[in-house]
Amino acid sequence: MQGTLRFENVTKRFGGFTAVDQVTLEIEHGKVFSLLGPSGCGKTTLLRMAAGFERPDEGRVLLDGRDITLLPPEQRPVNTVFQNYALFPHLSVRENIGFGLKIAKRSKAEITWEVDRMLALVDLTAHADKMPAKLSGGQKQRVGIARALANKPRVLLLDEPLAALDLKLRQRLLVELDAIHDEVGITFLYVTHDQGEAMSISDTIAVMNRGKIEQTGNPKEIYETPRTSFVAAFIGDTNFLEGRVTESVSERFSRAEIPGLGTVLIDNDKPVRPGDRIHLSLRPEKLIISREKPSNGQWDNSVPGTVEDVIYFGSNTRYWVRCGDYRICAEQQHRTFQLDDTAPSWGDAVWLRWHANDGYLLEQY
Ligand code: ATP
Repeated sequence: MQGTLRFENVTKRFGGFTAVDQVTLEIEHGKVFSLLGPSGCGKTTLLRMAAGFERPDEGRVLLDGRDITLLPPEQRPVNTVFQNYALFPHLSVRENIGFGLKIAKRSKAEITWEVDRMLALVDLTAHADKMPAKLSGGQKQRVGIARALANKPRVLLLDEPLAALDLKLRQRLLVELDAIHDEVGITFLYVTHDQGEAMSISDTIAVMNRGKIEQTGNPKEIYETPRTSFVAAFIGDTNFLEGRVTESVSERFSRAEIPGLGTVLIDNDKPVRPGDRIHLSLRPEKLIISREKPSNGQWDNSVPGTVEDVIYFGSNTRYWVRCGDYRICAEQQHRTFQLDDTAPSWGDAVWLRWHANDGYLLEQY
């Protein structure tokens, strides 16, 4: 199977502004690879260079080893699914899906066969003769996906394909997209600013910030072991603790002083020595909150605090707890409290506890 896409030192400037800055990435054939980042970070520009809609100022774009940097869009074996669907309003669903095949001068029989296959793939057989205006948003995007897949590209480029849909539809179409990917097995390059979308559909995620790639990894690596504070904060929520290593306890653990909070035990997931500055990321769901003081020795870390805010989210509740100079967010699944009714509330004195390996040391702050 073909479809390995490679960006090599790619830079794109608009006037004096560098939208994409020296990006090198390899997107393996058959995988779902997401570019994830905030608005304006350059992810769409990178995708557009793969499509041929933009030309890099520096660097190369390669597909299966062939330099396609200067190849016009229509000569590239890639297709794009756009956020706003970009369907032809005067063509039916069937004609939209078959459009590329018609341009490629495929025979009528071939087009019918391929379009029927695509209609079945995106579950639109019953709507084949409708005009786009008569379709829901989710159906329109399924036409967009079918149209982009009909002439068998090696890479499907998806530019925020679900952004125009409401939450429920987004979730449903995401599951469908995943199934479609399993079925067609080609490379997907997926651009999104939604971390939940990227986490659920991707084999690999590249987190972008200001034109650069901050970190590339599988969803679990990106979530559990963020390299930078940007990645830790962009993928989910986190608490940052800042301090200095005071003592090496063992090969595995050290003690650190966090000014305004106290002394905590840390896991040496990065090599640290006494005197080193550390930045620790502590995810809200790793923290346990209780009104009782944890018994000695059971937890590596426990700090006292006062509940300042409580927000109920249905499946969980989030607590913002004042602990010295820090305001720490802790998330509790409701079953934590199901045996009694001791869920803390606003103003309560509480304890937050966590094990050393629940925190993660960042490389860059
Ligand atoms: P969004 O999710 O908002 O689309 P993005 O991460 O996809 O954001 P890009 O669309 O790649 O970001 O844009 C990156 C930067 O480059 C932005 O600051 C944008 O304003 C700028 N930019 C993009 N295209 C052009 C253009 N044709 N001319 C000038 N500036 C541009």
